[in-house]
Amino acid sequence: MNLFETIHASEHEQVVFCHNKSAGLKAIIAIHNTTLGPALGGLRMWPYATEEEALNDVLRLSRGMTYKAAVAGLNLGGGKSVIIGDPSKDKSEALFRALGRFIESLNGRYITAEDVGIDVNDMEYVFQETDNVVGVHQVHGGSGDPSPFTAYGTLQGIKASLQRKFGDEEVGRYSYAVQGLGHVGYELVKLLRNENAKVFVTDINQESVDRCVELGCEAVSADDIYQVDADVFSPCALGAVVNENTLPQFKFKIICGASNNQLANDECGDELENRGLIYAPDYAVNAGGLMNVSIEFEGYNKERATRMMRTIYYNVSKIFQIADRDGIPSWKAADRMAEERIRAIGQLKLPFMGRAHRFPGRERGNH
Ligand code: NAD
Repeated sequence: MNLFETIHASEHEQVVFCHNKSAGLKAIIAIHNTTLGPALGGLRMWPYATEEEALNDVLRLSRGMTYKAAVAGLNLGGGKSVIIGDPSKDKSEALFRALGRFIESLNGRYITAEDVGIDVNDMEYVFQETDNVVGVHQVHGGSGDPSPFTAYGTLQGIKASLQRKFGDEEVGRYSYAVQGLGHVGYELVKLLRNENAKVFVTDINQESVDRCVELGCEAVSADDIYQVDADVFSPCALGAVVNENTLPQFKFKIICGASNNQLANDECGDELENRGLIYAPDYAVNAGGLMNVSIEFEGYNKERATRMMRTIYYNVSKIFQIADRDGIPSWKAADRMAEERIRAIGQLKLPFMGRAHRFPGRERGNH
């Protein structure tokens, strides 16, 4: 691999290789774009088979964060970090504190958070070395579980999609197929049932299905969810669920859910458009988690978080407007919206006075 060519191709500002022999740390921090603000993105720990695989993952994920923050209207850029290692056996205090020191050395250009393979205890160690962490424990002024907010944000995306398809946003008039009834899916089901909507549900975990059936939902098998006769399909489990096999089965009119990377490829996004389905781009719909942690910069409060989630309605609506304006599918319009915002702010050529984030209300110490 030609390192600089790879970084150049993915348009990254900075890629930091972090190594500490005594802690056994091998990590990469990727800062994709800081035009809008400091690069925020989670820390992932994964037993990557090769260093190249780790680099590709961190480059891809950090780029995605730039787009997500830009469409969400946040003053944040995109970043990500990965530790090469097995989360079940390679974790230690020294490992996370070493990484924390590297993050601190970036002086606020990169802000980390929890991601795959990392838990709140690991973040406690990182937090001992740097303030540039969000999603810390609530006793430190952190924002806590983002899932109810992500679900509420997903509901805003659904309303914007209903408005586009049917010209109204009366959630209870329509039917839904929710795939995955975990942290986000279950909260979404509750919101939909509060509106008396007809909801079909599926999950590979029977207990999760049962508690939704108790709320009045109809259970279907994991394979049958794609052919349910419902207006809205809401993927809240896995990625790549809109693919060559599932697409021909769809009777849905709208796809809007919280899962990441719902489209198996760009062609599937085009095909949805050809078939007249409304696709609400996943990263605009599920930005609730990112919005929620971003509030920690100014002192977390739930009311602000709820208000911010409502902006997802406008963000998704704007994507549809751009799709109409430029005659392009919605998945492409989302990227365009991000790029236009970054370009517009990047061209200001006015001094950035830097509204410092101070994390009011956050304290270190035992809990
Ligand atoms: P979760 O792990 O709590 O729930 C996922 C659920 O999907 C589980 O109940 C699991 O049993 C079920 N599932 C797995 N495979 C399935 C299958 N084949 N068919 C049906 N169900 C299946 O995860 P979550 O926090 O609810 O997140 C759901 C999705 O939303 C994920 O893709 C996640 O990346 C994305 N997301 C979550 C948040 C958040 O705030 N939690 C924010 C942004 C994006």
